[in-house]
Amino acid sequence: APAETPQVVIDAHGLPYLDPKLPVKKRVADLLSRMSLEEKAGQMTQAERGAVGAGGDIASYDLGSLLSGGGSTPTPNTPAAWAKMIDGYQLRTQATRYQIPLIYGVDAVHGHNNLTGATIMPHNIGIGATRDPGLAEKAGAVTAAEVRATGIPWDFAPCLCVTRDERWGRSYESFGEDPALVKSMETVIQGLQGARDGSDLKDDDKVLATAKHFVGDGGTEYGSSTTGSYTIDQGVTKVTRQQLEAVHLAPYQTAVDRGIGTVMPSYSSLDILGDGQGPVKMHARADMINGVLKGRMGFDGFVISDWNAIDQLPGDYASHVRTSVNAGVDMMMVPYSYKDFRTTLVDEANAGRVSAKRIDDAVSRILTQKFRLGLFEKPYADTSGAAKIGSTAHRSVARQAAAESQVLLKNSAGVLPLKKSQKVYVAGSNADDLGNQTGGWTITWQGSSGKITDGTTILEGMKRAGGDVTYSKDASAPTGGYDVGVVVVGETPYAEGVGDVGNGNDLELTAADKASVDKVCAAMKCAVLIVSGRPQLIGDRLGDIDALVASWLPGTEGDGVADVLYGKRAFTGQLPVTWPKSQTQLPINVGDTAYDPQFPYGWGLTTLTKVPEGGSATLKALALLAAAADRTGSDRVGRSAVAKARLLVQQKLSSGLTPATSKPFADADHLLLTGHYAEAVNKLTQAYRAA
Ligand code: BGC
Repeated sequence: APAETPQVVIDAHGLPYLDPKLPVKKRVADLLSRMSLEEKAGQMTQAERGAVGAGGDIASYDLGSLLSGGGSTPTPNTPAAWAKMIDGYQLRTQATRYQIPLIYGVDAVHGHNNLTGATIMPHNIGIGATRDPGLAEKAGAVTAAEVRATGIPWDFAPCLCVTRDERWGRSYESFGEDPALVKSMETVIQGLQGARDGSDLKDDDKVLATAKHFVGDGGTEYGSSTTGSYTIDQGVTKVTRQQLEAVHLAPYQTAVDRGIGTVMPSYSSLDILGDGQGPVKMHARADMINGVLKGRMGFDGFVISDWNAIDQLPGDYASHVRTSVNAGVDMMMVPYSYKDFRTTLVDEANAGRVSAKRIDDAVSRILTQKFRLGLFEKPYADTSGAAKIGSTAHRSVARQAAAESQVLLKNSAGVLPLKKSQKVYVAGSNADDLGNQTGGWTITWQGSSGKITDGTTILEGMKRAGGDVTYSKDASAPTGGYDVGVVVVGETPYAEGVGDVGNGNDLELTAADKASVDKVCAAMKCAVLIVSGRPQLIGDRLGDIDALVASWLPGTEGDGVADVLYGKRAFTGQLPVTWPKSQTQLPINVGDTAYDPQFPYGWGLTTLTKVPEGGSATLKALALLAAAADRTGSDRVGRSAVAKARLLVQQKLSSGLTPATSKPFADADHLLLTGHYAEAVNKLTQAYRAA
């Protein structure tokens, strides 16, 4: 196209696309105009680094990208080894005609989780519980800095899944069940990428982010297919068009508006009720990828397929390739079949079944991001930020996130916070297990139990906090004059599929966990912490438990959990998903007609005793109420706290709420009037969520 013809002075290297002073658009147009079909198809191909050996195929097949699938790490697993490995692959591109740099990608879904010694954040479900968009952004910035410092410019995160059924094994990768919550946490994209226009991507502490999995990954139906109940992972999302828009698509518009660089389609199928198409795999949905994402939403980055996802499409391989490329997938994650893919794509293009225009569009999108990342100028790892990996400054962000993610579900008789003067008996499978606390996608794809990287367990954190602590994993002999027991139970690590191997899609605690809870809670006052990627069923045991905490998967900083246990920070987390009473209630989500959960969406008690400076009205009202509950209404502080809290409630009631949203406020007001302060705090937590 003449309009695109670059009018430039040829730079020192001889070709315009190498001139960093030119606008990216011109550089892309220049390079594209020189490339052969084979080279273009190569740019659209992503291989697994474990499949390319020493990397000879990088030049032979003009590969555009490599990834480390979960756990595909160098030996030793150190920052220097990562940088050296990636530089070695990058060097191979020097043997190609235009020396187009590779773009290397990893799943850094909660910190640089492939790297030993990195700072590991809580998984997204815990970040959702913090309700703190500023913190989500900081966590993203730490992740980006650690990832880029090992020579990796691209992160397959964040997951924007809106999880609607906790039996799905990827629920913990979701910020929560409410699209509004997911949207509010998308500040993480700014943390990862920096400015919306991509101008920070060149920096040595930013990475290109990926919104995944487009669209409806969190809405798949349970047990609906002939192949069994496990189809909730990679299964079918059946929704009306209106539900699709409001629940699953909404977070993508936010991501596009925030300048997201790449989007990954979902393995799942989408079945839009009433449109007559039935279920269609997302990688084949031109209406969604070309139509909605790139068309209506205006996404101008590139679309990367999921791992081998095109193999799940119907028909032969040639049809997998043309269907997905024509649907709008720009780069294919074909880890081991990269040769077949590239050859087939060339054949399909030569046969006119994939247009030259489509190929040029895909390659332009990919090259644009490579230019933005500064890869042509600086293809090799810049490890100047490596000293920050796992640093105290980074860990303090993860510690804050761990603390803020803790959701206090029950706290009778003020068991929490603990006092340092108390003798505390700690027990349970997850009290002293860093691997269980970090969950899946940590060092290996599935994660594993035990001391898998650097960090502190919850038990270690409690000791470091100065607690007078005695520990027994299996709660043997839990008697002998303890003031309070802390039992930490929950899940063991898993990634994708339906959940941990022992329990599968079952949300029951294990028999051993139940026994620990029962023993300790029978012997003394007890607080139970559940370390898990999703709610676990408590049932009638709730009556025997004095305090209950949803700890999620808090990451490497057990100190953060200890901070709230010992009152160094207040509990402020709120449930990002509904906590069910029983398995038969699933799926259960806020807004369902027969909504009768154990704890509603948004639930979370606070131990704040002071009005936070600059806090939101919600937080202020809750803090005032908590203070009142703490001190009773009889002293002056308590009385004025109640009066102020009532004022806030009254204001809310007169602000034009619907009858449904005003009822909990009216109830809270009544509880305040009648002196039931603790209940009023609970009620108000719900009320603010609903409003
Ligand atoms: C997951 C993606 C991930 C990809 C690459 C797939 O199995 O679904 O979320 O980005 O693997 O590791």
